[in-house]
Amino acid sequence: MTGLLGGTFDPVHLGHLDVAHAALRALSLDQVLFIPANIPPHRHAPRASGADRLAMVTLAIAGEPRFAASAIELEAAGTSYTAVTIDRMVAAGRTREDLCFIAGADAFAGVASWHDYPALLDRCHFAVVSRPGFPASAVRTRMPAFADRMIDAKDRYQTPARTSIFLIDAPTAPVSSTDVRACIDRGAPLTGLVPDVVAGYIDAHRLYTREAHGH
Ligand code: ATP
Ligand code: MG
Repeated sequence: MTGLLGGTFDPVHLGHLDVAHAALRALSLDQVLFIPANIPPHRHAPRASGADRLAMVTLAIAGEPRFAASAIELEAAGTSYTAVTIDRMVAAGRTREDLCFIAGADAFAGVASWHDYPALLDRCHFAVVSRPGFPASAVRTRMPAFADRMIDAKDRYQTPARTSIFLIDAPTAPVSSTDVRACIDRGAPLTGLVPDVVAGYIDAHRLYTREAHGH
């Protein structure tokens, strides 16, 4: 099974790598594709260009052969919708049972507002990974209508009859891209927040500084 980690990645940080590793391990995935959104729905536009966000993701995952970056959303014009991205992958030859969309529990809490919900949840498997302050198990009580398709990743030996929602509680770094951008704004070091190669890229390209804002 291939994991799809969608996000804005503005910029990619150590929490994202932890999420991908947690899903890889819990679900024995073959690979995880990191998919930066072109224009994310429901939020402000990214500060960095798509090309810079993709370049940073590519640098961040270079040491992990089971991680890859995908430009599928950046290459499509306009707003990026998870349902549309999954359909495009299926049209290109993937099977739905072989795809698992990975989301942090904070992001998944808003799934009812995603394009084509609830049919979206039939598109492929989903994996919800905890984020500090957002346990994955809370999704069960939040979405009782879907509780019958939620499976603790630990109990995965039950072969799901249809697309499932795997729940994964795992430690991930308490970092957000918002924190990273705030650190850059005040000139604080990014040690422990992003991989060193990403910090180097941000510095070399002067991303997220006040002067760069709006360019
Ligand atoms: P921002 O602060 O700009 O919203 P972010 O850190 O939330 O950025 P996104 O690109 O929005 O990063 O996140 C992409 C996906 O990764 C989302 O599903 C999000 O829930 C998940 N994610 C990001 N950081 C973590 C983390 N530290 N732990 C668990 N999940 C995370
Ligand atoms: Mg976010």
